[in-house]
Amino acid sequence: MRVILLGPPGAGKGTQVERVAKHLGVNRVSSGDLFRDHVQKNSELGRLARSYMDRGALVPDDVTIRMVMGWINAPEQAKGFVLDGFPRTLAQAGALAQAMNGKGGIHRVLYINVPEAELVSRLSGRLVCRSCHTPYNSKMSPPKKEGKCDKCGGQLYQREDDKPEAVRKRLQVYVKETEPLVEYYRSKGLLAEVNGGRSIEEVGKALVEAVTQQVHR
Ligand code: AMP
Repeated sequence: MRVILLGPPGAGKGTQVERVAKHLGVNRVSSGDLFRDHVQKNSELGRLARSYMDRGALVPDDVTIRMVMGWINAPEQAKGFVLDGFPRTLAQAGALAQAMNGKGGIHRVLYINVPEAELVSRLSGRLVCRSCHTPYNSKMSPPKKEGKCDKCGGQLYQREDDKPEAVRKRLQVYVKETEPLVEYYRSKGLLAEVNGGRSIEEVGKALVEAVTQQVHR
């Protein structure tokens, strides 16, 4: 199974990606996490990505496509994968379709839909683990111990691009660059829309159901 999680920043893709991947028995990747790992290591790619990420802009397509395709083409992903945060432009979707051509293509695109007003409040309260990238929300899903990750004990921090100015920019970029993918994948009959304005548990269940329906079709 090759599955994409699509939706605006703050929709809950990073929260749900592990659940969907576990259900399917495949690996998952978040393109934003790949970039953040490079930023942490201060690699050449990290320094380039950071100059876009900090202001809420997209990293150029060629760099992003090369990085994510490197992950997708690894032998461990032969069984399939779940992608979070990629593709984010029509050019990225085209490159992915081309790469999967002859390999059975993409099976399902799960679109998590959340009203914009809710996204702003979610993103401004988000905290992320520096070590394992698990996201928390200071109101909706706080960690058991303040500032510490429940899973690995790592330190929680607020992403630079979750500050108000970058959040506004990211939502604008989403509408312009990424939202067209909803119709792109709908027209291919791949889209399943899930109402993301519910509890983490309810959204997780709905996503697993949506992806399972496809398996049995
Ligand atoms: P995310 O963690 O998915 O919110 O991504 C954080 C930031 O990483 C984005 O605001 C972009 O700057 C960059 N990024 C992640 N995925 C992509 C992508 N598919 N295309 C371009 N930039 C990306």
